[in-house]
Amino acid sequence: MSFPIEQIRQMFPVLHQEVHGKPLIYFDNAATTQKPQSVINSLEGYYLHDNANIHRGAHALADRATRYFEDTRETVQKFLNAKESAEIIFTKGTTESINLVAYTFGRKFIQTGDEIIISTLEHHSNIVPWQMLCEEKGAILKVIPINDAGEIIYEEFEKLLSPKTKLVSVVHASNALGTINPVKKIIYSAHAVGAKVLLDGAQSTSHLEIDVQDLDCDFMALSAHKLYGPTGLGVLYGKREVLEAMPPFQGGGEMIKEVTFEKTTYNEIPFKFEAGTPNIGDVIAFKYAIDFINETSKSAIKEHEEGLLSYANELLGSIKGFIPVGTAKEKVSVLSFNINGMHPFDVGVMLDAKGIAVRTGHHCTQPLMKRLGLEGTVRASFAVYNSKSEIEKLAEGVAQIARIKN
Ligand code: PLP
Repeated sequence: MSFPIEQIRQMFPVLHQEVHGKPLIYFDNAATTQKPQSVINSLEGYYLHDNANIHRGAHALADRATRYFEDTRETVQKFLNAKESAEIIFTKGTTESINLVAYTFGRKFIQTGDEIIISTLEHHSNIVPWQMLCEEKGAILKVIPINDAGEIIYEEFEKLLSPKTKLVSVVHASNALGTINPVKKIIYSAHAVGAKVLLDGAQSTSHLEIDVQDLDCDFMALSAHKLYGPTGLGVLYGKREVLEAMPPFQGGGEMIKEVTFEKTTYNEIPFKFEAGTPNIGDVIAFKYAIDFINETSKSAIKEHEEGLLSYANELLGSIKGFIPVGTAKEKVSVLSFNINGMHPFDVGVMLDAKGIAVRTGHHCTQPLMKRLGLEGTVRASFAVYNSKSEIEKLAEGVAQIARIKN
């Protein structure tokens, strides 16, 4: 069966507009994805009919809101194939999920002289929390090097591992280059020295089938807004035994069992990590984003996006002055590039004038750009609703721009 691209595009109202007098072509999906009508309807429906605080109310609206909220937790559990829904914690996003682990697991289990391993491919949100922790604890941050294609050098990773390694925190799929890391191997080797593993799933979760039990990762962080869901919402998956061993993140309502002025006892997971009133409407709406992905089918989405990426490589690869950045064998649908003699920002502005939205700059991966000897790149990232004809428009646009200097 061919991919129902027109039907899918109809589900995303924002796509049907003109920008600078040209039909919008949205290729900034690694930054954030657009939302299907079902997600928008859910948000509206919640505030029109169901708005109430959850878990504590004795009335019908509170019951309903709680049920819908917990439905999303179960949907996320199935989406990641977590063992139980208690292992799904709602956060503000990938950034907060990683910070949660740094503040709780990190503060308790990482001591002076211990080591944390990350990779050269990391987003700033998987670098800075560990630097802050290392500074506080006197721990050491080690970085897996990459080759010129943008792949981690696995043998170098193995050399970094030792009994001092307490945590390996790596990106599953790079936002800047698209590289998919060999995470299963990484997890296996890290566990062999007794380290825990956190996967930054901000990019991978929208493109790849995820099975946290099969991967055997201890944590996975993700953002709803990169999965066709609302902004300001994310998930931390953690194995029950690891989460239970961790102290709470923030103190407040919901995360307690009993409070006295002398001593407070904490709630069970996941509530222990969800202090205060959460982002109820957005959590409820997130279920519809995952339902959309499931109904479209992850494997069909993956095949469609792989087709777009290889078509883009073929068309843009033949343009004089086109310089691909990141040529890993295993990639999600991210095309990073430069044009000989031109600044990436200028290329982005010229593409915008043609109605084509891309991202330019360092993509929150400054150390990676430094390693590649670049100030930044132009990044076109493809999603479920992008079409081959849009890729052709991108290639036409890039060819016209490249002719200026090549
Ligand atoms: N990690 C990666 C790989 C990302 O691409 C992003 C966002 O671009 C993040 C982390 C941070 O996600 P958020 O800003 O949603 O917390």
